[in-house]
Amino acid sequence: METQTRPLDVTVVPCDAYEPALAKAALLEAIAPLGGLDFIRPGDKVVVKANLITFLKPDKAATTHPVLLSALSELLLERGAQVVIGDSPGGPFSLPYLKRVYAATGLTDCEKAGAVLNQNTDIKETDFPEAKVMKHFTYTAYLADCDYIIDFCKLKTHGMMGLTGGCKNMFGAIPGTDKPEYHYRYPNPTDFSRMLVDINAYFKPVLTICDGVMAMEGNGPSQGKPRKMGLIAASRSPHKLDLVLSALIHMDRSDVPTLEAAFERGLIPATVQELAVSEGWERFICPSFETIGVKRGLLFTDESKGLVGKAWAGILKAAVQPRPQVKGEDCIGCGECFKVCPAKAITMVDRKPDIDYKKCIRCFCCQEFCPIGAMKVRRTGLSKLLERIR
Ligand code: SF4
Ligand code: SF4
Repeated sequence: METQTRPLDVTVVPCDAYEPALAKAALLEAIAPLGGLDFIRPGDKVVVKANLITFLKPDKAATTHPVLLSALSELLLERGAQVVIGDSPGGPFSLPYLKRVYAATGLTDCEKAGAVLNQNTDIKETDFPEAKVMKHFTYTAYLADCDYIIDFCKLKTHGMMGLTGGCKNMFGAIPGTDKPEYHYRYPNPTDFSRMLVDINAYFKPVLTICDGVMAMEGNGPSQGKPRKMGLIAASRSPHKLDLVLSALIHMDRSDVPTLEAAFERGLIPATVQELAVSEGWERFICPSFETIGVKRGLLFTDESKGLVGKAWAGILKAAVQPRPQVKGEDCIGCGECFKVCPAKAITMVDRKPDIDYKKCIRCFCCQEFCPIGAMKVRRTGLSKLLERIR
C-alpha cells in the first residue's frame, strides 16, 4: 500500500559558516523539499528582498549575509533568471544612500556572482481593498517590477515585534523615510502586525528563506549580539517560517504579534507542532537565546477595542512592555533618534535625547536607527519576572 507523505511546510538545515560552497549546498537542501526552484523559467526576473537595515557590516549579524545572497543568486542564475537584490533601509530611498548601504553590508560582492543590486528608486502608490487594515499604501516600485519575490530575512530579536523574521522583513517594501509614518498610523503592535500581514498578502513572496547562521540576540534588530545558530530555514509561507523561528528562540506565538495576526487570518496553526517541519529541526532550538519581547499575549487584550480594553492595555503596557532608554555615557548627541521618532516623543536637551513615555508608542525606531547602539530596550521588572517563571 502506498503511503502518502505530507509536504513539508518549513525546512531547517545546518549551515555552519558563511562559506560559499557550504552556503549553496545548505540552500539547496533547504529549498529542495519545498519543491525547489523548478518554477523559475529562463528570463524570469526574481527580486530577492534582503534585510539591509542600515550601514552595518556583515559580522554584526544585522543584515542578510552576502555569501548567502550570492549563493542564492547563483542558483537562480543557473536557471536563467535575472536576479535583483534590494531593500529600502531606514533613510532616504535614493541611489547614493543605497550605494552606501550596499557597500557597508558587503552586498557589492553579490555583483561578482552575477546579481544586480537594485538601482530603481521609484515609489508607487496602490489601493489594496482586500487588506485588513492597510487599504492604501506607498511602496518601492522595484518590488512590483518582477516575476517573483524571494524574501531573504535574518533571524533577529526586535524591540517592538519580538522577532524579525520573514513577515517583518517585508516592511522594507515601504520607502525608508515613510516608515515612521506607518508606525504612527499603526501605533500598537496588533495593528502594526495586521499591516505587516497585509504587506505580505500584497507582495506574496514565492519563497521565504532565513539566514540563521549567525543570528542576533538581545538589543535587536540592529544593535544586539551575534549568536551562532548555524542554520538556514525556508518555507513557502513567511508566517509558517516565523512560527518555527519563534520556537527556535523559545518564544511563544503570543510573544510575536505578527504571528498572532497571521493566526487570526488562518495563515498558521495554533502551534508549531501542527506544522510539517523537516526532521530533526528541534536540535536547533536555543533555550538560552536572549529575547526582548515577553508575555506580549497580555498586550493583545482588546487594546484596539473599546475604552475599557484600551485602558487595560495601557496599564499592562506600563507594567510589562519594554521601553527605549538612552545609555547616557554612550550617546554622542547626533539627534538621529529625535529625527526618526514618529510620535515626536523625543526632545534633545543639552544634546541628549529626553523621551516622553506618555507619547512614546514603543516602535523602537530610535533604537533601530541609533548609529552606535546608545538607545537600549529596557525591560520592566515585571517582564523580567514573567520571563523567569514562564
Ligand atoms: S521614543 Fe523611540 S520607541 Fe518611542 S515613539 Fe519615539 S522612536 Fe518610537
Ligand atoms: S541616535 Fe543614539 S547617539 Fe544619537 S542622540 Fe539618539 S541615542 Fe544619542
